[in-house]
Amino acid sequence: MTDFDVDLFVIGGGSGGVRAGRIAAGHGARVMLAEEYRMGGTCVIRGCVPKKLMVYASHIRHEIADAAGFGWTIPEATFDWTTLIANKDKEIARLEAIYATNLEKSGATIVKTRAVFENARTLRLGTGEAVRATTILIATGGVPNHGNPIPGIEHVISSNEVFHLKSLPKRIVIQGAGYIALEFACIFAGLGSDVTVIFRGDNILRGFDEDVRSHVRTEMEHEGITLLSGRTVTRVEKHGEDYTSYLSDGSSVASDQVMFAIGRHPAIANLGLETTGVDVDPTSGGLMVNEFSQTSVPNIYAIGDVTNRINLTPVAIREGHAFADTVYGKRSVRVDHNDIATAVFTQPEVGTVGLTEAEARARFAAIDIYQSTFRPMKATLSGRETKILMKLVVDADSDRVLGCHIVGDGAAEIIQIVGVAVKMKATKADFDATMALHPTAAEELVTMRTPTSRYARAAAE
Ligand code: FAD
Ligand code: NDP
Repeated sequence: MTDFDVDLFVIGGGSGGVRAGRIAAGHGARVMLAEEYRMGGTCVIRGCVPKKLMVYASHIRHEIADAAGFGWTIPEATFDWTTLIANKDKEIARLEAIYATNLEKSGATIVKTRAVFENARTLRLGTGEAVRATTILIATGGVPNHGNPIPGIEHVISSNEVFHLKSLPKRIVIQGAGYIALEFACIFAGLGSDVTVIFRGDNILRGFDEDVRSHVRTEMEHEGITLLSGRTVTRVEKHGEDYTSYLSDGSSVASDQVMFAIGRHPAIANLGLETTGVDVDPTSGGLMVNEFSQTSVPNIYAIGDVTNRINLTPVAIREGHAFADTVYGKRSVRVDHNDIATAVFTQPEVGTVGLTEAEARARFAAIDIYQSTFRPMKATLSGRETKILMKLVVDADSDRVLGCHIVGDGAAEIIQIVGVAVKMKATKADFDATMALHPTAAEELVTMRTPTSRYARAAAE
């Protein structure tokens, strides 16, 4: 018996913490994991999974609308929010139990309470008990950002509450133009709500390829979503069951619900970090870590959203796994954060991997763009007003495909596999040598023969 109660104490039972705890226990470590809310964390309980189930629910409206052109007569469909939420909650409870069971099966102990640092080796549990650990992993994730305090902020919900609304809002105002705001704008529009999106920038999805940004915006506007740029919500008033959002341009919007999705920040408040000496990055607000997710205090590591590197579930999982292999598996593993495919589950969805055109232009001397915008075959009979965007960003010197950007149904599924090719440093010639699979939308990616535009730095300067 050592002086320590456990080899590893994990704070947080989300995507990253659970994976790290399970793999470390598998390597023989004595592991304890604390979770203050529900096992599975943001992704399972109030993120990716319930969100995607709601995306499916919302998408069914499009299927019903598209059916007539294919000969189907469908009596007027009705939607029941309560049923969706109840079924979603049942599935989430099932997954939560699986997370707990799998972790316990690995030999780790779960304590269902909050844990905070007493010093760099000791955690104080919500139960009052102190636990001494040789190594501590901070995997506390992130929390919604509410922005500057504005009058009436107490009336505003975040993504934490949106999964448990009592009823479907007839009208909803959403502030923000990133992943969460746009995914929920499309979810609510599909379910029948009247949606207004308010955002401070001149366009949505900052950081994404410019063509993706304008394409998604046009598609959302076709769906009847109102997008108001260059504005912020400055005050929210409640009158009975109605809300009025006052905007920075002097106008106002009435709704039954107001949601802010204006980013998230690392969950480090009241964690007792000041007792440890762990450094926080002043710019990102995340915990500073090296390539092995080790903080400035050698026995304390941090993974996932709390480090604010790339805030996606598979990244948190990979970082947790790499940590456990490095510290307990006698194998140093670095996580490669380059060329990570990502999707925004708008309707139609975005799939993207690698460099945007603007990023490629800044880094490479000559760039070829292969781009195609076309009507999906399904829309020819359904009559739906929609187009698919496919874009390849290619280094003209090496022929390497640097980035791929898709907007259209199935984009997330397609980009996962394009991600393999980009990771393997596939060239445009490799794409061209790949036989098309017909009839699909994805075949466009291997049949675009001629660049639609070229950029050469020497010529541009
Ligand atoms: P989390 O999963 O947030 O887990 C942290 C856990 O720590 C939480 O359960 C919390 O309760 C617990 N905790 C915090 N402090 C303490 C403490 N002191 N003591 C005990 N427990 C504590 N990513 C994707 O890849 N795809 C998606 O489609 C996607 N959709 C999303 C949709 C929404 C609405 C949101 C909010 C996020 C989405 N994400 C998505 C991001 C993804 O959920 C996160 O990147 C991921 O969950 C991060 O995992 P983590 O382990 O770092 O933290
Ligand atoms: P994002 O960073 O994607 O978007 C934040 C939005 O809020 C931007 O439009 C930003 O505007 C705006 N904003 C930021 N601060 C303010 C402010 N003070 N006032 C007004 N507007 C503001 O964050 P999300 O909250 O949408 O999502 C958080 C993270 O979760 C994502 O970055 C992603 O990593 C992850 N996620 C992943 C998903 C997926 O994989 N499909 C789905 C959901 C979340 P501006 O552009 O001008 O800065």
